[in-house]
Amino acid sequence: MNKLAFLIVTGCLAGLSVAAQDPVQTEDWSKKPAVITPGCDQAPPSDAIILFRKGKDLSNWVSRSGPAKWKTGCRKMTVNGTGDIMTKEKFGDCQLHVEFRTPSKVISEGQGRGNSGVYIQSLYEVQVLDSYNNETYYNGQAASVYKQSAPLVNASRKPGKWQSYDIVFHSPRFAADGSLTKPATITVLHNGILVQDHFELKGSTTYAGYPKYEAHGDMPFLLQDHGNPVQYRNVWIRRL
Ligand code: MG
Repeated sequence: MNKLAFLIVTGCLAGLSVAAQDPVQTEDWSKKPAVITPGCDQAPPSDAIILFRKGKDLSNWVSRSGPAKWKTGCRKMTVNGTGDIMTKEKFGDCQLHVEFRTPSKVISEGQGRGNSGVYIQSLYEVQVLDSYNNETYYNGQAASVYKQSAPLVNASRKPGKWQSYDIVFHSPRFAADGSLTKPATITVLHNGILVQDHFELKGSTTYAGYPKYEAHGDMPFLLQDHGNPVQYRNVWIRRL
């Protein structure tokens, strides 16, 4: 067979094999996605674990030294100087929704204005700050992964306005000897806008010094008391 004839024959055979492929071969019927009901008007979806939604119920939370004592009422909880609060339950990979607002009365600047924090697994902080016309180091402004990654844009609303974070987090993986096998990743939407795009964390977020990992399993989710009366509402989480 000469070269031209060979190409024609093999080309025809390839065409026949493509035509013979059954589209059913690439259909995946192995795991049916669960049916859930999305929430309307900021309500959580039907499979979310509600961490704080209404009234005075802080039963899902504790402080570092006992019961959680943040001020509650009118469907919100307010940082009041009684310390960080954390969930009783521990979480790994998760999707998280948090609504917050910084004080409408602006009384400081930089890191002192509306500072709080959303700490996933109690170790990895997405900064809460009033970053509306308030300059600070970029990897410490609202929606930063604190001291590791500045947000892609500043999507902050005015002080006193409710804002939201929607976060997808995959926890780090460790070998039996405690060494890191896979870093944590985080994606954050701030008021619906992408601000962290699958960022690979370098370790736990720290105020001073460089981040590093220490092996851990599932951990509580924590909200920071940084001394400013930041408010939270409609906090829910989904395990992934
Ligand atoms: Mg903070």
